[in-house]
Amino acid sequence: MAVSPTADRTPAPSFEDNVNAYFDRAARFCRHDPGLLEQIRTCNSVYAFSFPVRLGDGKIEVIQAWRAEHSHHKLPTKGGIRYSAQSDESEVKALAALMTYKCALVDVPFGGAKGAIRIDPSRYTVEQLERITRRYTHEIDRKQFIGPGIDVPAPDYGTGEREMSWIADTYGQLHTGELQALACVTGKPITEGGIQGRREATGRGLMYALSEACRSADDMRTLGLSVGLEGKRIVVQGLGNVGYHAAKFCREHGAVLVGLAEREGAIFNPKGLNEAEVVEFRKRTGSILGLPGATDILRSADALELDCDVLLPAALENVLTGENAPRIKAKVILEGANGPTTPDADEVFRERGLLVIPDVYANAGGVTVSYFEWLKNLSHVRLGRMDRRREAAADMRLLSAIEMATGRKFSERERQSLVTVTDEAAIVNSGLEDTMIVAYQEIRDGLRRQPEAGDLRTAAFVTAITRS
Ligand code: NAD
Repeated sequence: MAVSPTADRTPAPSFEDNVNAYFDRAARFCRHDPGLLEQIRTCNSVYAFSFPVRLGDGKIEVIQAWRAEHSHHKLPTKGGIRYSAQSDESEVKALAALMTYKCALVDVPFGGAKGAIRIDPSRYTVEQLERITRRYTHEIDRKQFIGPGIDVPAPDYGTGEREMSWIADTYGQLHTGELQALACVTGKPITEGGIQGRREATGRGLMYALSEACRSADDMRTLGLSVGLEGKRIVVQGLGNVGYHAAKFCREHGAVLVGLAEREGAIFNPKGLNEAEVVEFRKRTGSILGLPGATDILRSADALELDCDVLLPAALENVLTGENAPRIKAKVILEGANGPTTPDADEVFRERGLLVIPDVYANAGGVTVSYFEWLKNLSHVRLGRMDRRREAAADMRLLSAIEMATGRKFSERERQSLVTVTDEAAIVNSGLEDTMIVAYQEIRDGLRRQPEAGDLRTAAFVTAITRS
């Protein structure tokens, strides 16, 4: 009998399988009861639903959507909403699980959740997207999968402030008079209850994560790199919210952006690119290809194999696989996207001694600042508003005391630069920086205590499991 060549081919592990494989690897280093481990690993609830929308030509389209709450151990649950034609239930569950571990790592007291609508947003008008988003919000509200103390969505791939404002508005209409209604979603525009710095938070957090990793003289020596961010050559995949801001902040802190990859192809310039110029050029021409001074790479994925120090995948999952891992030239993989590295690739990177700064920690800046936004909404006061004058007055008193003690008068300019004017952005950014530094050191310390764990990802999962 003829056997089809594909008949006995086992399907590639899914993203969900990969997250569970990382969990299981770390669980070997934990002393938890197996039943408890199973409870931590299991997704608690998933709401899968479809709804019809009438499009411009009068035709009805049925749209599939999900909201998964991975852990109710801490409430509310928290996690982004993704608009992608590739989304499915398994992907949403994988992303929700990562959120649980991520929140535990950065000490944000939420359980993990995630949502998705299976659409390619570029195929819809703004008005249609608004209708889809509002309908989605109605559906998850009906089943109690949204609420300031229940489950709090945020932006993810394919969504941003605009979608979050539609969600907040719909929820507000359904819950008239509910004092905390604005805290039902984060990542909102500033004028609608958002917080300064949330848009940039994931990218900024990635820069803090990389800076912290590059501060270790021992780790940099092992990798054959110099200490510090200065001069590090970076390649970024995905010029969306995460990739754009990570590129911007790393470049502003001395790194050189040598490569950028988007859907249509990639560009390379060893002298350095500027992400804002690339975005502007792409807006004008419809492509990043053809940027003056840069070399075009027609197959976008080839950019992952460019000569660089740091590779920053910031698009989608499963882009670094057992197939391309041996050819990756970067010494550091900074995971901006969720799940960019498969366990096969991870194994290769471990054997080759690369430093992988894992998604579960590296891209936690977004949820950290979402937590600040949620707190701001619940307290009904802008961060810094209550104590700004008091802090400035205290600084003034200190300066006067120094003047009296030393006999030296500060100039007006010196006074102004020494007095702290704590605005919301400064408070958010300093809270974010502190969170990323503390979490990195906790993971690094975990690896020092258990070197047999072998890498930062496993150490991060061990820390997360211990706290979940
Ligand atoms: P986004 O939609 O703003 O941007 C994604 C970008 O990737 C787009 O520009 C898209 O064109 C590009 N892209 C898609 N496929 C590509 C490919 N094959 N090659 C190159 N580029 C490609 O999404 P985002 O919010 O930046 O999210 C990106 C990743 O970061 C996702 O994995 C998401 O889960 C993760 N993440 C996002 C946040 C957040 O705050 N937005 C927080 C944590 C993690």
